[in-house]
Amino acid sequence: MEIVVIVGTGCAGLTAALYAARANLRPLVLTGKQPGGLLTTTSTVENFPGFPDGIEGCELMMRLQKQAEKFGARVQFGTLEAAGLKQRPLTLTIDGEEVQTETLIIATGASHRHLEVPGEHLLENKGVTYCATCDGALPIFRNKDLVVVGGGDSACEEALYLTRFGSTIHLVHRRDSLRASKVMSDRVKANPKIRPVWDSVVTEVLDVKQDKVTGVRLKNVKTQEENVLECSGVFVAVGHIPNTTLFKEALDLDPAGYIIPKKGAATNIPGVFVAGDCSDRVYRQAVTAAGMGCAAAIEAERYLESLNE
Ligand SMILES: Cc1cc2nc3c(=O)[nH]c(=O)nc-3n(C[C@H](O)[C@H](O)[C@H](O)COP(=O)(O)OP(=O)(O)OC[C@H]3O[C@@H](n4cnc5c(N)ncnc54)[C@H](O)[C@@H]3O)c2cc1C
Repeated sequence: MEIVVIVGTGCAGLTAALYAARANLRPLVLTGKQPGGLLTTTSTVENFPGFPDGIEGCELMMRLQKQAEKFGARVQFGTLEAAGLKQRPLTLTIDGEEVQTETLIIATGASHRHLEVPGEHLLENKGVTYCATCDGALPIFRNKDLVVVGGGDSACEEALYLTRFGSTIHLVHRRDSLRASKVMSDRVKANPKIRPVWDSVVTEVLDVKQDKVTGVRLKNVKTQEENVLECSGVFVAVGHIPNTTLFKEALDLDPAGYIIPKKGAATNIPGVFVAGDCSDRVYRQAVTAAGMGCAAAIEAERYLESLNE
């Protein structure tokens, strides 16, 4: 019987592991298919507190894992395949094997939606990115023409944020008006650095041969006309998919699939806690995920104490 199982080794999972381990709970921590989580897919992280010169995403996550292991966290390569949360003890299926646990911390993150067009994957981190807050300030984007793809609040926020760095921000949207809230749309329309490109979709990111982003191929969905828009960066903001499918029968999820915390990091099932991007549709940052991981571990510890009272 495990005391605490933590699903995920991103910032949320490993911070939860650090706190649970320091509380002598010897958590079992599952890596899933992406050990170290999303930050391992980026180069320099410049906004994690304590690193004035920035730190490579992989290096940060390796250090965080080492820190958690130092206090007794047991990090295991493994994927949660099923979770029986409706009876006690909680029963997990990990790579085909059943494991029982008193508490569970879910820190499975959220994946970004891709455009699924040629060039997108090959040029990821070479000009294609999914997070303006994370990457917008990088030198390759400064004073350059940039493209943001999307028409919701996130896309508008990304475009507005990028006006601090880029020269012109082309906001490419498949419709002829934004889906975003009125206040966001108004801000975007009032900003002279943002140029909406209506009724258009990106059909290719250029240029794989040069190994960097030089532009996007666009198609007008009304006229079917194609043209190339030159740019140095493509910020994809077409939504996120929280990794929560396994929990949809048992836990309260919002319509987009994010786990709804009941109070703090607790969920609607006693002993099951949540942290990080799988329950955060607003901030989705490394430091907020880490903070939520800390909260989840402290709450798990208090829950276990309450069982012994
Ligand atoms: C390109 C890029 C650059 C970024 N740069 C920055 C930055 O500079 N600064 C910043 O603050 N934020 C940045 N972010 C955002 C940051 O990476 C996320 O906010 C953060 O990683 C969220 O942490 P998390 O622990 O919630 O989830 P994740 O990091 O997504 O980790 C999820 C973990 O859950 C595991 N998992 C999922 N399903 C299962 C399962 N069934 N079984 C077992 N394990 C499972 C995965 O393998 C993974 O280990 C960036 C994001 C991207 C994509």
